[in-house]
Amino acid sequence: MRLPVYLDNNSTTPVDERVLHSMLPFFTHNFGNAASKTHAYGWIAEEAVEHAREQVAKLINAHPKEIVFTSGATESINLALKGVYESYGSKGNHIITCATEHKAVLDTCKHLEKSGADVTYLPVKSDGRIDVNVLEKSIKPTTILIAMMYANNETGVIQPVKDIAAIARQHGVIFFCDAAQAVGKISVDVMKDDIALLSLSAHKIYGPKGVGALYVRRKDPRVKLTAQMDGGGHENNLRSGTLNVPAIVGLGKACEICSNEMNDEAERLNVLRNKFETALLELNDVYVNGSREFRLPHVTNLSFKGTTANRLIMSMNKTAATSSGSACTSALVEPSYVLKALGLTDELANTSLRFGLGRFTTEEEIDFAVMEIKSSVQKLRAESNVF
Ligand SMILES: *Cc1c(COP(=O)(O)O)cnc(C)c1O
Repeated sequence: MRLPVYLDNNSTTPVDERVLHSMLPFFTHNFGNAASKTHAYGWIAEEAVEHAREQVAKLINAHPKEIVFTSGATESINLALKGVYESYGSKGNHIITCATEHKAVLDTCKHLEKSGADVTYLPVKSDGRIDVNVLEKSIKPTTILIAMMYANNETGVIQPVKDIAAIARQHGVIFFCDAAQAVGKISVDVMKDDIALLSLSAHKIYGPKGVGALYVRRKDPRVKLTAQMDGGGHENNLRSGTLNVPAIVGLGKACEICSNEMNDEAERLNVLRNKFETALLELNDVYVNGSREFRLPHVTNLSFKGTTANRLIMSMNKTAATSSGSACTSALVEPSYVLKALGLTDELANTSLRFGLGRFTTEEEIDFAVMEIKSSVQKLRAESNVF
């Protein structure tokens, strides 16, 4: 068992060996530029990229032509939000999003507000899900985009995606879904879920960092975007720049593995997550944050009253790698805005840790982590004399 036990798979995942092996030839032997049309080096690279495009498309039930390769979910989100805002300006300037979105969405919306966008940040209920009635009421004649995540990166809470999509369709509004945490973990189907734009990232699904994709629907509706990167016109003019062929090959392989193994993996991790959570709930005054019903199978976010997340993390830094899910700005750790949106007080939010299990998490690791976390919580509580 490798220490500290890695329980922070929501922030990133290790590259699967099978993914690494698929990538290696494209650094050296098959080094061609996928845009070189005049020789075999280019053709081999292009063929590998198109194969990866098929693997990505298959995982989310899209057409390969609807996949745009990017440097990751953050770039995909920027392309989707800014691209829609600039393309649909004649229709309106209103965007609806949600308070618990990833910073990549929230900060892009903040940026667009400076250029004249009207943005509604919907609250969530105490279970972390939006109220679809509130969503529907917030639609205006000027609404062009609804941006809602599939599953939250801190709590694992899954939004009512189909209901959101139905409202978007009924009102002729584009639905963008940040699915970086959901793709490859649970079934995400752009047709059944009726999603027009979707972002995903390789390093959340055992692929390399610095590569991702944006799904852009081609029909019903055909989504128009303006490029955010100008240059050689790669990726159907939506994302210029020489393609990162090894990374794209890795993303494709990562998606293929998820297509094949996701269901079994989810089942296995769900059992482990439940074992982990049940064991920690045996301590008094431990609370699960967010819906337990609509939640990713491998994630739990827990508040340990009478402790602080910082001190827990420090006391376990040789034994268990977890995070508070709160944004670290300089030395100050602010309470998580996601947990605050669920109605937690600053004080309780500051006692919360998020745990993300992953493909390589073992039962032995879970049993060990439970022991370590329990003893750390008890020790901190004893020191603070509260319990
Ligand atoms: C990780 C993550 C992102 C950012 O992805 P990068 O590929 O690291 O840019 C965006 N949204 C969610 C929900 C994420 O979990």
